[in-house]
Amino acid sequence: MTVDIVTIFPAMIEQPLAAGIIGRAIERGTLDLKVLDLRDFTTDRHRVVDDVPYGGGPGMVLKPDPIFRALDAIAADRGTPLTVIMTSPQGRRFTQAEAVRLAGLEHIVLLCGRYEGFDERVRERVTEELSIGDYVLTGGELPALVVLDAVARFVPGVVGDEQSVAQDTFSRGLLNHPQYTRPAEIEVRGARGVLEVLRVPEVLTSGNHAEIRRWRKREALSRTLERRPDLLDAASLDEEEEQLLRELKGASHERD
Ligand code: SAM
Repeated sequence: MTVDIVTIFPAMIEQPLAAGIIGRAIERGTLDLKVLDLRDFTTDRHRVVDDVPYGGGPGMVLKPDPIFRALDAIAADRGTPLTVIMTSPQGRRFTQAEAVRLAGLEHIVLLCGRYEGFDERVRERVTEELSIGDYVLTGGELPALVVLDAVARFVPGVVGDEQSVAQDTFSRGLLNHPQYTRPAEIEVRGARGVLEVLRVPEVLTSGNHAEIRRWRKREALSRTLERRPDLLDAASLDEEEEQLLRELKGASHERD
């Protein structure tokens, strides 16, 4: 997959990507990422990318012409048509399902805004507008990294174990089950200073794989029911999970 990110702060993208799974995918060439400095597409001596808003008001607006030139350069380099994603708090909410969809594309461009955002005319060249949540950040670099990270996990060869991606929270519309690792027992001092032993649930050390699978399904369902019941309407459950969910709902009705 090829990704171009247009920003006025290339270091904000490059430095976080130097480490970790995404960094390795770029090194190996599984992900072909280019970070373009918007200032390289200005034509004035001061490399100005922003200007005051027409009609007055606070803040500055990103000029359209350097962005159009950057997109022309990317189109010439990668070939058209481009999928151009504008990061924006006004965009459609970015979700795991969106990440899966974008990972199926061969190429995406991510535009990072700054100041008061983009001149409205930039939207003429934008395929979609994505928001990473209902809050306003100072720039689009963190949203672009969030989108890239979530999308890249679905690109074959980026995450070593693809099964782990398929089992993640949201992938089947459920939160993931709890995870434990060694040691099987650990002593911790509780709130009142008393030592207590925290044990891994016995089923996980039993070696009974059918029981472990069922326990994990039950835990994933019970977590989702407790924390994010809204997800259950769209979740794709198998028969065993439907049955477990009925039991969990029955038990919670009895408690109420
Ligand atoms: N004035 C704009 C508004 O009210 O819609 C906000 C501009 S914001 C300060 C600057 C840039 O940060 C945006 O152009 C966008 O690229 C990015 N940004 C901020 N919050 C975001 C969010 N929740 N999701 C995606 N991008 C965001």
